[in-house]
Amino acid sequence: QVRLRFAPSPTGYLHVGNIRTALFAWAFARHYGGKLVLRIEDTDVARNTPDGLSFTLESLRWLGIDWDEGPEKGGDFGPYQQTERMDIYADVVAKLLAAGRAYHCYCSQEELEQRREAARTAGQHSGYDGHCRTLTEEQVKAYADEGRRPVVRLRMPDRPIVFDDLVRGEITFLPENLSDYVLVRANGYPLYPLVNPVDDALMEITHVLRGEDLLPSTPRQVALYEALAEIGVGSGRTPRFGHLPFVMGEGNKKLSKRDPGSGLGEYMQRGFLPEGLLNYLALLGWSIADDRDVFTTAEMIEAFDIRKVNSNAARFDPKKCEAINAAHMRMLAPEEFGSRMVPFLAKAGLLPAEPSADQRAVLQAAVPLVQERMNTLSESVDMLGFLFVDDAAFSVDPDAAAKVLTGDAGAVLEASVKALADVDWTTEAIEASLRTSLIEGLGLKPKNAFGPVRVAISGRRISPPLFESLELLGREKALHRLEQARA
Ligand code: GLU
Repeated sequence: QVRLRFAPSPTGYLHVGNIRTALFAWAFARHYGGKLVLRIEDTDVARNTPDGLSFTLESLRWLGIDWDEGPEKGGDFGPYQQTERMDIYADVVAKLLAAGRAYHCYCSQEELEQRREAARTAGQHSGYDGHCRTLTEEQVKAYADEGRRPVVRLRMPDRPIVFDDLVRGEITFLPENLSDYVLVRANGYPLYPLVNPVDDALMEITHVLRGEDLLPSTPRQVALYEALAEIGVGSGRTPRFGHLPFVMGEGNKKLSKRDPGSGLGEYMQRGFLPEGLLNYLALLGWSIADDRDVFTTAEMIEAFDIRKVNSNAARFDPKKCEAINAAHMRMLAPEEFGSRMVPFLAKAGLLPAEPSADQRAVLQAAVPLVQERMNTLSESVDMLGFLFVDDAAFSVDPDAAAKVLTGDAGAVLEASVKALADVDWTTEAIEASLRTSLIEGLGLKPKNAFGPVRVAISGRRISPPLFESLELLGREKALHRLEQARA
């Protein structure tokens, strides 16, 4: 059985690159009927935020990425939060030291820096030089007597480390580039390069998918795995690694926190559909078929093959992301589309969180008018707000008023009020009556005839189709707004 993990740090921020990692790990696990473990990497306490964990869980739930083991779920390999596993790490380190796979290093920062500088000047490799690898007992005692507190380093093997990356194929790291690295700080604090592989080993992770930025740490982790296998920690099997391509933003630089569109929160607020966002993120390195961009999450899981992930950097394109989302908006059943708009209209104070049957009916009737026109759910506020806003709170956008409610507009509005006062309140009758009185009667072009009516009743220059909008708004409100706009 395959076991994958997603290992976010609870910083209160999820980068779209991290979500892509979670998505690929999840799709991989689901494709093979395996398990996805959610592990919270919170040992770098300074980076944690108070709501970081709940934000992470909320975000995954919103995306529809579910986990089999982890916070709230439990599981046989817990705890799943690293700060609750400190005893485990201390125990593993003691075993590594006892087996000689790790050792204490007493070098001070200054000493390290000096020797590194000297090595650089001599044109040699400037990684750790192994100074403390073979200290005698006297040397250790002398350091300890000086009051030095050691870090713990892993003893790296003196041979190339080779692994077959699931995305990039065989990768070889030469020993001269892999110096003994620090597992535990002098203050006893275990570091990411220790805790992450230890947990992968103990949690019996079979496949690690993660960003290419972590590739340099992989040979060291592979060496640690081998050491852990020797001392009997974990399953003894090194997981397969797959490093997902970089995601590039503006100016062909790695997409960073500063780039608009890089954080998940933005997509939730703008009313992206989780399935639309996931579909777009899947395209950052993977595709379902050459000629096909739009697919459901279920289709992705069905087709997912890590071997088909492209190792080239992927470019993040906000416009395409929105277009893919728009395609998913069109795919929703009308009832569902209506329901998904409710939280956005509610947040804007236009509808209660639980709309009444009447409000619901108006909303549903509006769906066919807007479903093809909206790219994100938050656009419902601008598009449909005029249907739900109280008359007292209704106002015309000043810019629209300045551009459209001028010139002939007074006459148009007056004629419209007359035309609509007694007409049958159906889209067809409304349209026929307005055409007769404005176009034939006043001799106006459609744009000049209907523009002022649109602005008067919706407050905006862009609205759903006019005659349908009038019908949905109702005669009383429509006439009232036309009168207001004349004043
Ligand atoms: N907590 C690490 C991160 O968020 C996980 C790295 C990994 O997947 O190995 O970058």
